[in-house]
Amino acid sequence: MGGYNSGVIFTNDNCIGCNRCISNCSLMGANVSIIKNGKAHMEIDSRKCNDCGRCINICVHHARDFRDDTDAFFADLKKGQKISLILDPTFYAIYGKKAPCIVGCLRKLGVEKIYDGAYGRELCAYLTVKYLKEAKNLPVDQRAFISNACPAMIAVV
Ligand code: SF4
Ligand code: SF4
Repeated sequence: MGGYNSGVIFTNDNCIGCNRCISNCSLMGANVSIIKNGKAHMEIDSRKCNDCGRCINICVHHARDFRDDTDAFFADLKKGQKISLILDPTFYAIYGKKAPCIVGCLRKLGVEKIYDGAYGRELCAYLTVKYLKEAKNLPVDQRAFISNACPAMIAVV
């Protein structure tokens, strides 16, 4: 989804433009200050936001909200649409022993493929370290600048 405020996480009318979300967001440019009805308002650039949800907890004005598409997901499955899922590692942490049962239910309901999102993290860490090692002896002006949006990934690297 492109544009402002059109993604999963969005800003509602409670926003007072206090900037707290900017200072706590790991993605440069994901929060965009605009003027709405004559007042400062912080919308989300949905092309940059990674939907981490941190600002929902950070915003004390309850101005960050999310769109719940669970019903649409099950309705589309019922219609026979081919849907594959990437499961975030937190899924297993939250549901524990129930996780395999939920995965089984989703398969029975027709989910096409289910991937483990943790692989993305491993690949990303591996490729970043590989690049750093390969580029470390290049002249400074030939080394690319690495900026990663994920603080957890940076900690791993
Ligand atoms: S969304 Fe919340 S934290 Fe961000 S500027 Fe608006 S009120 Fe402040
Ligand atoms: S959901 Fe995460 S990435 Fe998106 S604006 Fe909020 S803190 Fe930034």
